[in-house]
Amino acid sequence: MSTVAAPVSHLRENPFEIAQQQLHRVADTFKIDPNLISVLQQCKKAVVVSVPVVMDDGTVHAFEGYRVTHNIARGPSKGGIRYHPDVTLDEVKSLAMWMTWKCALMNIPFGGAKGGIACNPKQLSRTELQKMTRRYTSEIINEIGPEKDIPAPDVGTDGRVMAWIFDTYSMNKGHSVLGVVTGKPLNIGGSLGRLEATARGALYIIREAVRKQGATIAGQRVAVEGFGNVGMYLARFLAQEGATVLAVSDSSGGVYNSNGIDVETAIAHKQETGSLDGLKDAERITDEELLLLECDVLAPCALEQVITSDNADKVKAKIICEGANGPTTPTADEILEDRGVLVLPDVLANAGGVVVSYFEWVQGLQEYFWKEDEVNARLNDISTRAFNETWATRESRGTSMRMAAYGLAVNRVAEATTTRGLYP
Ligand code: NAD
Repeated sequence: MSTVAAPVSHLRENPFEIAQQQLHRVADTFKIDPNLISVLQQCKKAVVVSVPVVMDDGTVHAFEGYRVTHNIARGPSKGGIRYHPDVTLDEVKSLAMWMTWKCALMNIPFGGAKGGIACNPKQLSRTELQKMTRRYTSEIINEIGPEKDIPAPDVGTDGRVMAWIFDTYSMNKGHSVLGVVTGKPLNIGGSLGRLEATARGALYIIREAVRKQGATIAGQRVAVEGFGNVGMYLARFLAQEGATVLAVSDSSGGVYNSNGIDVETAIAHKQETGSLDGLKDAERITDEELLLLECDVLAPCALEQVITSDNADKVKAKIICEGANGPTTPTADEILEDRGVLVLPDVLANAGGVVVSYFEWVQGLQEYFWKEDEVNARLNDISTRAFNETWATRESRGTSMRMAAYGLAVNRVAEATTTRGLYP
């Protein structure tokens, strides 16, 4: 009899405890009322559901699913749905809390939420994936809605999954409800620019950061970890602006060329073969080697906790752009700060997705759709404003970009909570 080892989770530390620690540090630095922090350090609601699915071979598998709302003081909650084997309730709670701060920092009228199912979407057939998604949607149908909580794609989910959520919800309501989910395909009410929005937002933030150093994106040497929605488009946009993309990686490992990877060839190769393995004119490197490359900008765009106390002192990049949520642990953050590495925090760097999700929601409610140029220009306005506010707070407080971004965001949520008053 053979035994299969359980997969090792990418989560070395409890992510919800990390998110709470970050909140407490912000509260100390910005002198936020401890009574408010005792509200904000918890999630408003966490729902755990069983999602039984008849698999293609006739067996039944019950997946565990979650939907968590962290806070709704500034508007309905908003946050992605993750399909990944390592999904846990605490991971979803941390991601929900970060969504609250992200929406507040970008000053869009949403609170924070997140959802997920512990599953390996790569091992599910299309039919199994669709059945699982529709059953999960039915299980959380009382939690979501255009005025309540609006899901979107995250790791392992995409427009196709959003289409099934939209359809299941709409079937149950008896009419199409465009505003229930964002990241939908264009032919059923998606927004132009949404697919690339997270990467485009990250591009705008990097552009502002290098401008502060008197430089432009052209000529920057960059490494991008993760080659999914965020990483792939970010690598493409950076290359289009003249940066040299030294390396990219996915879950099969990394590829490197000191003269630059041809990003379009890498995208075509990934689409054809499903991985970066075997890409021409590139040498194989490990994901860890990619993180430690000599470069100007490192963009972790995969999962949490990849820059830790084990490797932070060896990171050589001058700027880290957190395309992923939570890629840097708090201890690593301190090491990087001491070493003068400029960390562009997740709540700022990857907020482009939720900003254009907001645009998609507005367009859906109005049933009036904008041109792509208009979407990108408005995203640029919001991203640049958030960057400048964060930069100014960093300067005036003599703190890190992360602390400045969180400080601005937590203050906004705290003020909204105070203005509304605590019910009853
Ligand atoms: P995705 O599923 O499209 O892509 C994830 C990528 O990471 C894949 O290429 C996968 O192969 C790679 N990956 C997984 N494990 C890896 C490893 N150990 N080493 C290297 N690569 C690895 O997901 P996504 O939507 O691009 O999300 C990536 C990150 O960005 C997540 O942290 C997510 O929360 C965050 N994010 C996504 C959005 C969005 O709009 N999609 C918005 C904000 C933040």
